[in-house]
Amino acid sequence: MQTLKISNKLVKYAFIAMFGLIAIHSNAQVKKDSIQIRRIFDMALEDGKAYENLRTLCKGVGHRISGSAAADSAVNWGYNLLKSMWVDTVYKIPITVPCWSRGNIELATIYHDDTRLNITALGGSVGTNGLLKAKVVMAYGLEDLELLGEKAIKGKIVFLNKPFDAKTINGFEAYGACVSQRYNGASKAAEYGAVGVIVRSMTHKHDNNPHTGGMGYTDENNKIPAVAISTEHADMLSQRLKDMPDLEIGLRLNCKTLPDKQSYNVVAEIRGKSKNASIITVGGHLDSWDIGEGAHDDGAGIVHSIEVLRMIRANGYRPKHTVRVVLFMNEENGNRGGKGYAQWVKDRGEKHLMALESDAGGHTPRGFSISASDSLYQIISSYRSILEPYGCHVFKPSGGGGVDINPLKLDSALTINPNMILLGFLPDSQRYFDFHHAKTDVFENVHKRELEMGAASIGSMVYLIDKYF
Ligand SMILES: [Zn+2]
Repeated sequence: MQTLKISNKLVKYAFIAMFGLIAIHSNAQVKKDSIQIRRIFDMALEDGKAYENLRTLCKGVGHRISGSAAADSAVNWGYNLLKSMWVDTVYKIPITVPCWSRGNIELATIYHDDTRLNITALGGSVGTNGLLKAKVVMAYGLEDLELLGEKAIKGKIVFLNKPFDAKTINGFEAYGACVSQRYNGASKAAEYGAVGVIVRSMTHKHDNNPHTGGMGYTDENNKIPAVAISTEHADMLSQRLKDMPDLEIGLRLNCKTLPDKQSYNVVAEIRGKSKNASIITVGGHLDSWDIGEGAHDDGAGIVHSIEVLRMIRANGYRPKHTVRVVLFMNEENGNRGGKGYAQWVKDRGEKHLMALESDAGGHTPRGFSISASDSLYQIISSYRSILEPYGCHVFKPSGGGGVDINPLKLDSALTINPNMILLGFLPDSQRYFDFHHAKTDVFENVHKRELEMGAASIGSMVYLIDKYF
């Protein structure tokens, strides 16, 4: 049975190779490629620019929510940096972005004894229009709301306190299991007559930093204010509610949504030498939340991507395919950049071979998630042995891509290239949510060497795919 399977696979590879789609990865090629991959890592580790680029983005521009003056500065920062690298073309693609302002009042207190709670408004929340004072009802997660029902919820602030599961090893899986209470909490609670929501921060870490993030309203339900609370204060509030179920919270927020604004995706490319060159896109998102410096999320992905282009240039390597870096705008609260880029690609009639997104932080590389047909996945996973010595060995056969690049493949109205490969860069996930969307997401919390290893891993993958497809 096993033999039959293997021979079928070989036939399939031979078939693909015959038609020039790939070259089978022989031992001699692995050896040759290993030398080139070693060079890429040497460049990133000995003479890398990713860390200094991150410093100028974080310290020179700082946080940069879509539609802000800082986001405009980030666009200029990216454009000027890419221009200075002597790539073939740098474009600014105009897009319209939503604009939300946090305002300057964010206060939550336990009314009875004036205990101040560490909260921050969720992105997109309405303000309170003065003081909002109400009793609080705690729910373990959205699934609890139905059990509590309108009788328990109406006129109250709902405190959604489902924690990250400590037993879940991968941080993104823990996040995935909880994040619906942040995104949908306000609209679901409003369905039962709630007047506000307080959501436990999305992190394993026990500290006093609230983590913001996107939330959305539905047309059917009242728009009620929504805030995140630090994990320490979530535990404190939970305990206080046990002792005093009638306690009241006073909430004041003056955040609001402003009219849409014009912004840009920044795109730079080195054109491929092949007559049939396709596009390889590598990107991250330039916008960030409006606290911290957007260092891991997603300054890291931005400088990873720029470093790939720089290393190709510095190495004097002319790729077969066009390698394009995209600094996407508005990933955090609208995905207008991702959708706008997909539309731009479609309007130009371009064919994509592969798109890779780095939006999981600047920690030690572990591998890639890969969305591709079975046969393409087999080809890509054959590169594992080359990257394994660098600790980059996870080749996850699903979930590749990311918010910014998914529209290239998923928007059925675009149907650009159903055979394209989507990759997501996978760094270690243990500490990402310590910083994610919090004021601690700053340059100092990114490790130089880990960041450089990430850039080299992504550069290696781009090199291999460019060479073999
Ligand atoms: Zn991000």
